[in-house]
Amino acid sequence: MTVDRLDHARVAIIGAGFSGLGAAIRLKQRGTDDFVILERSADIGGTWRDNTYPGCACDVPSHLYSYSFAANPDWPRSYSGQDEIWAYLRGCVERYGLGPHLRLGHEVVEAAWDEARGCWAIQTSEGALTADVLISAAGPLADPAVPDLPGMDSFRGTAFHSARWRHDHDLAGRRVAVIGTGASAIQFVPRIAHTVGRLEVFQRTAPWVIHRRNRVISPWLRRLYRSVPASQRLLRTGLFLAQESAAVGFMHPRLMGLPEALARRQLRRHVSDPELRARLTPPYRLGCKRVLLSDEYLPALNRDNVDVVVDPIERVEPLGIRTADGTLHEVDTVIFATGFRVTDSPIAERIRGREGATLAQAWQGSPRAYLGTTVAGFPNLFLLLGPNTGLGHTSVLLMIEAQLRYLVGALDHLATSGTAAIEPSARAQEEFVATVDRRMAGTVWSTGCHSWYQDGTGRVSALWPGTTLRYRWRLRRFDPRAYVKLA
Ligand code: NAP
Repeated sequence: MTVDRLDHARVAIIGAGFSGLGAAIRLKQRGTDDFVILERSADIGGTWRDNTYPGCACDVPSHLYSYSFAANPDWPRSYSGQDEIWAYLRGCVERYGLGPHLRLGHEVVEAAWDEARGCWAIQTSEGALTADVLISAAGPLADPAVPDLPGMDSFRGTAFHSARWRHDHDLAGRRVAVIGTGASAIQFVPRIAHTVGRLEVFQRTAPWVIHRRNRVISPWLRRLYRSVPASQRLLRTGLFLAQESAAVGFMHPRLMGLPEALARRQLRRHVSDPELRARLTPPYRLGCKRVLLSDEYLPALNRDNVDVVVDPIERVEPLGIRTADGTLHEVDTVIFATGFRVTDSPIAERIRGREGATLAQAWQGSPRAYLGTTVAGFPNLFLLLGPNTGLGHTSVLLMIEAQLRYLVGALDHLATSGTAAIEPSARAQEEFVATVDRRMAGTVWSTGCHSWYQDGTGRVSALWPGTTLRYRWRLRRFDPRAYVKLA
């Protein structure tokens, strides 16, 4: 069915990744069937559909990186690969009967609050519809960030972003440049290092890399989780507590001395050349940028055909990359592992509130929302994984589920109070943001590094400055007193 045959839905969800599908499942469980999921791609899965680079996996344990209400006893390893996570999401679509609600290939071009009709007027690439409630679940890791390097157009080789991997481009024997050394690069660099002829990793800032032990989950354990679901819940609780306790270090940066010492020991063990080690030693407090988990990345950099280039990139030329020291690094392929548009997400330019301004205009470069979920001036809009809801220490699914609970509470409130539309008061939003900023000031994310957690103004607007328990407590029930009734 296309939206042409659907004029109005009670709820429209943008995006069929973890948060959008989670919202759909929660709506179903609430008994709401009148909803539609608008997905621009031809399949579901969000970032787990898009990122197919070699070695793509999740560095949060699978038993925690999955919905609490849709347990999967069959995770094969502690940390799952992209294909397994994507399959899990497809399984959820099946299990909860979400298929009829999906509108694949429907890109939201604009969603504007229609004051006269009191609903969202949504224009998609396949037609228009209206909805009483809009859930933006577009995801922070949806739109690749590709730096605007001078001369890029002149490059004669092949270039692509890690989230748009060119599987048709055989890397065997080629001279390859990887730009960026974040969570994506450290996963695929060890997978391609032995295939390519020569690999140059262009590093702007050295990441902290710590040990990751990826254990196979034995068949008997899987059988146990399947036959005694309480055992799996116990495991999840244990993982939750272990990961959650790491938040203490992020909140109290001086405690990061110990993990830094462990990371340095790992660096010494894997990299024997002191000069290379110096290049790979991060000049900032561990945790300020995302901590990377890998047992394979550092050993791969030891290979004879791999080099770590730290001279800044000056420009791209037809034959390769020219660095500031004047060297031309001749390459056939450039792979951008340069991350995503997290704090300047394009969807913010497409959602227009009560006064006609887009979210991007309202935010002026620094995303803000009440509880990271609702926005003053944008009635009946719910952002999943909105501003200040990202995490550095555990599964983001915990944040999504807190938001879903809150969302269901809000929908119940709309239904029982006879209110047509609500939005948070500007005061509630300002107070929330001020509290977040105050708490952020003491965390490791404010210790002076430059990271993608910060927006263009330098404010850390991607992360929640605390435990997920605190966030879940804050969103445990919908709080109508923070809201303005519009009708
Ligand atoms: P990222 O963490 O944002 O890393 C981008 C890298 O590109 C950084 O090393 C950055 O350097 C570099 N860079 C950006 N612009 C550059 C430029 N103009 N010139 C040179 N270098 C440049 O991106 P990512 O690795 O794709 O990861 C993004 C996020 O996705 C992660 O942080 C994580 O949340 C998620 N992810 C998760 C997993 C997982 O296992 N769960 C795996 C992959 C990705 P600077 O450090 O100097 O900025």
